[in-house]
Formats: sequence, structure tokens, C-alpha cells
Amino acid sequence: MTADSPNVSTDRIACASCKHDIDAVARLCPYCGADPRTGTKPVDTQAVLQEMFHPRPAATASESVVEFARHRQGIVIALAVGIVILLLAGLHEYVTRRNARDVSAAAAIPLTEVTDLSNQQDENRQLPLPKMEFQFDGHPQTMRTFVVEPGAITPPEVVAAQQTATAPPAPAAAKPH
Ligand SMILES: [Zn+2]
Repeated sequence: MTADSPNVSTDRIACASCKHDIDAVARLCPYCGADPRTGTKPVDTQAVLQEMFHPRPAATASESVVEFARHRQGIVIALAVGIVILLLAGLHEYVTRRNARDVSAAAAIPLTEVTDLSNQQDENRQLPLPKMEFQFDGHPQTMRTFVVEPGAITPPEVVAAQQTATAPPAPAAAKPH
């Protein structure tokens, strides 16, 4: 750093207008905006700036489009996706309308030639109810469901058994009278 200081000091001059220490190659003083050698302020600062900092040449239309795409990649990707979807939708619409309008010239093929339906099971056929093997311990009456047919007649031996079962209490009930 110390070796650079004399070199730096030779590269710097004092502004003729405001006496500030500025760079020797400066065309304009950064403090007062005047020419550091003459001390006069140029009227057209923009001309000096354009002379020093060459403006970029005007970009062509294609270059500006590429530059825009580079800066806004998200928008460009979204636009591309939208265009692709529109293209696919248009193609689908075209094919749908063409299929609805045009009739195929090929001969009709029966469905039985395309698919073999002979070994297909009837899906509407009711499957037999599987035999239910449930476990019960000693009381099968509580586990069984009895279906009572409408119009069923009680067997005579069952009627006799019920009458003998209800007969004995009758005399006992008559005792209080
Ligand atoms: Zn100055």
C-alpha cells in the first residue's frame, strides 16, 4: 500500500473550480461538475457523459425479445405451457369433429372377432351363500334362526305336549275360588 501512495498522488489533481482533490483523468469534477482543468462548467453535461460512456447500441427486435425472455423466465414458461395446452385442445377438438363427421371406409368388424366372450362368466348370476360354520357351546337354540312360514299348522304332537304342560296349573289356579 505504501508503494502505491506516491503513484496515487501523481494521478490526482486539484479541481480548478472547487480545489477538491480529484482523479487526474477525470473530465468532470465529481464535486462541482466543472471541468477540473479550466474550471468552467460545460452546459451540455449529457454530451460529455455520452462521449465518455458510450451508450449501448439500440437492440434489435429479436435481441430485445431474447432479453425479455431471459429476465422473465417464469412468465415465458407459463406462456409456453398455455400455448401447448391450447394447441392440444385445438387438436382434440379437430379430431373430435372429424370423427363425428367422417365415416370410416373400412369394413365393420364384429365384436366377437375382437373379444372372445365365450369364456366370460355371467356377472349377474347369484353366487350361492357359503355355508356358515359358526361355533356354539351347548345352546344351539339361541344361535339358530327359525323361519315361520305363513299359514303353518302346529303339529298335533306339539299341541298335545303344550296342553299337558299348561294343564297342571289350572287346578291350582282354581283353589282360591
Ligand atoms: Zn470541482
